[in-house]
Amino acid sequence: MAAQQFDRVAGFLGLNDELIERCKWPKRLITVTVPIRHDDGSTTVFFGHRVQQNLTRGPVKGGLRYHPAVDLGEVAALAMWMNWKCALMDLPFGGGKGGIACDPRTMSRGELERLTRRYTMEMIPFIGEDIDIMAPDMGTNEQTMAWMTDTYATHAGRLVPGIVTGKPLTLQGSAGRTQATGHGVAFLATRALNKLNIPLSSATAVIQGFGNVGSYAAYALANAGVMVTGISDVNGAIWNDRGINLTKLRAHVAEKGTVVGFSEADPIDADELLCQPCDILAPAASDMAITGKNAHRLQCKVLAEGANGPTTPEADAIIDARGDIFVIPDILCNAGGVTVSYFEWVQNLQRFQWSEREVLTKLETMLETAFAKVLAFAERNHLPNRVAAQALAVKTVADVKSQRGLFP
Ligand code: NAD
Repeated sequence: MAAQQFDRVAGFLGLNDELIERCKWPKRLITVTVPIRHDDGSTTVFFGHRVQQNLTRGPVKGGLRYHPAVDLGEVAALAMWMNWKCALMDLPFGGGKGGIACDPRTMSRGELERLTRRYTMEMIPFIGEDIDIMAPDMGTNEQTMAWMTDTYATHAGRLVPGIVTGKPLTLQGSAGRTQATGHGVAFLATRALNKLNIPLSSATAVIQGFGNVGSYAAYALANAGVMVTGISDVNGAIWNDRGINLTKLRAHVAEKGTVVGFSEADPIDADELLCQPCDILAPAASDMAITGKNAHRLQCKVLAEGANGPTTPEADAIIDARGDIFVIPDILCNAGGVTVSYFEWVQNLQRFQWSEREVLTKLETMLETAFAKVLAFAERNHLPNRVAAQALAVKTVADVKSQRGLFP
């Protein structure tokens, strides 16, 4: 998907063959074996990856994912998207992504800690606060980042807070980082509603995924006056025409670990949820949720892509042909996470802490700038928003490559 999208954009930009080749392929693909001892004394060798797509504009930045489906190809695609996201947001980073093929839900805390520490150790020759800075993604969280920080500090003999972002606040994390991605998704979705002249007070939203991105997007949308009528997670989906009470849902999820069984909503088929009438549909779970099978049945006005790669190229073609859905493409829509990660890194390098208000205000300013840039470029060139966002990003990287020239 990422390669197909790149080819389309490179064609539009008219990049020459040299720049196409130099921009398309990742700089470094690293795969390591990560052996760990389980609690029962047995041993498993896991496969861990890190792809550093591009170091032309600065150190590599990108998340670390724990999921059974992780493989080198998926990580490479995510690294490419991350590269575009950093370029689109004008962050001084290249894109990267990491992952371990494992099922964190079946592993104990001790096993996850050993896995994280061993992976970090295996990655030490390739990472550093000015080389490659990891962050949480699916299946990882601030505890994972704390273990990585500690492992790196033990190796370096000093605390190097800028080695990862998404750390706990007490360990020099940034205020606002936890909610940053969801906050950004909600902020941009409400900006899109403004563009479409849909009042927030009468708008509804459906959200796929109730993890970090989905839950904070839901809270922020509700705070903005939008009614959240449908939510799903990996176990199932729920629906309430009159709006889901998110405070009560949060308590339910804290107790049961899932949105399923929430007493103040009805169960609904998870695939059908995506096709219900709503103003905002925010896929915030995993990739390829919107496909050739369901794209023609969507009934949303705004598609706010919280997840990475939630829409397949086939679905994209259907949505472009329909012309009635305002797409906020993933590299823009979920860029709040990496932007506040960038703020965290800057604060770490400066040994300084900003307030949550300062962080979120700076975030909204940067998202607003990028949103306006994408819409203007799309309008000027009669392009879908996704192609416009990707074209701006690829052009930024290609221009810097041209300016730096080719060594030797
Ligand atoms: P998470 O692990 O915190 O949450 C994922 C959620 O999706 C969980 O509620 C899970 O139950 C649900 N889910 C998984 N499969 C599902 C399915 N088939 N149907 C419905 N729900 C399903 O992960 P996250 O950090 O919220 O990340 C979600 C997406 O957002 C990923 O694509 C990730 O790459 C992207 N993203 C995350 C961040 C971030 O800061 N966390 C930043 C940018 C992009």
